[in-house]
Amino acid sequence: MNTEKLRSFLKNRLPPEINRLILAAAELAASQEASLYLVGGLVRDCLLDKTPKDADLVITANAIRFGQDLLQGTSYKTTLHHRFGNLSADINGFKLDITTARSEVYPAPGKLPEVGAGDIKADLFRRDFKINAMAISLSQQNSGCLVDPYDGLTDLKQGKLSVLHPKSFQDDPSRIWRALRYSERLGFDISAETLALLKRDMQLIPLIGADRLRYEIECVLEEAKPENIFLKAEETGVLRYSLPGVKADGWLVGKFAEARKIYGTCIPRVIYYCLLSARLNKLQAENLVTGLNPGKYITGCLGDYRYLAENLPELEKTGLRPSHLYKILVKCRKEARQSFYIASDNPLVRQNISLFEEELSNIKPHLKGADLIALGFTPGPAIQTILRELLFLKLDGQLTSRADEIDYVKRRQADDQS
Ligand code: ATP
Ligand code: MG
Repeated sequence: MNTEKLRSFLKNRLPPEINRLILAAAELAASQEASLYLVGGLVRDCLLDKTPKDADLVITANAIRFGQDLLQGTSYKTTLHHRFGNLSADINGFKLDITTARSEVYPAPGKLPEVGAGDIKADLFRRDFKINAMAISLSQQNSGCLVDPYDGLTDLKQGKLSVLHPKSFQDDPSRIWRALRYSERLGFDISAETLALLKRDMQLIPLIGADRLRYEIECVLEEAKPENIFLKAEETGVLRYSLPGVKADGWLVGKFAEARKIYGTCIPRVIYYCLLSARLNKLQAENLVTGLNPGKYITGCLGDYRYLAENLPELEKTGLRPSHLYKILVKCRKEARQSFYIASDNPLVRQNISLFEEELSNIKPHLKGADLIALGFTPGPAIQTILRELLFLKLDGQLTSRADEIDYVKRRQADDQS
């Protein structure tokens, strides 16, 4: 790769601010006599001429100090990881990572590594796949030079994905999901040897714990067609060790695709979560939540989804009283209702949910709390009760005009007083 090609990649494929920062970083590194490299996905995407999702730099100096010097005077949010000698900056939504060149030793499968000093070759050796273990020098004397000690370029040209050494998945079982993800995203085959290692080591996945597994699963959900990655996970057996009970098959493929038709590419990940949980029983659904620890909102939606599943016999009925349907559905978060709609193969269920979304949920009584107070009610919980009664009667068509509502309220008042 020559300097010109590198510069045009940086200019055309990265946001201008990142490009500017990388060029400034190269100058700063030169002034400090440190070697600076582009690494990982950025190099891979540069060689494939694809747009990178984020940018990783490695420096043979203290990356935290270097990053702070580089970003001095800017207001970008930065996160420091002292343990890994790493600084992450959020540059208008694009992640820039600067790491000190390091080597790693894994004390036990699934545990985080112990970190030591290392040169670029050692730093590349700790990486997941050969195609992600290349660097491009940004040093002035050899700018644009590819550093490829493990022959990642050959894999890249052959459309192949392979680990750097046989213990790779044992060191970090989360790489198993990364393998499936890159294989789908890039259309690469996992090499026969790496696939055998993946199958040998997939039983170690639970050792990475809920938070790291969730991170990997959510990276999958960010991909264009996550269902294809789940299919690969099913086929290899990885899914069983990661999300017990979840099935990836034609049904899931169809439902994920339908969800994207409704939401487009900005589909909230909670919809995918609900679809993954749709065919689980209660215990399996609870295990999914413990196994991924997905945070309050998603956990709430998954709970709502189960509640809807328990109410299925009601939701399958035709001619339900609107207020009854309303009472069932209003308790759930919108995403739970919408994923239940997508997951449902019964047109009656779909009709009922649509009726709620499109009509019932927009209906409000004419009278407000203030009107009731003006009519002589004492402020307090009784007002809420009457407003709900008005709403249910209106939903069922028993009250239509404001005058109907006032009549009803007055009658109610008279009853209370007698
Ligand atoms: P993406 O396009 O999804 O950002 P990426 O290859 O850049 O892909 P990142 O998650 O941004 O992946 O990580 C940057 C680099 O860090 C990777 O290319 C790889 O070299 C290394 N890396 C990330 N996660 C691991 C891991 N679990 N084990 C080993 N190396 C890893
Ligand atoms: Mg990246």
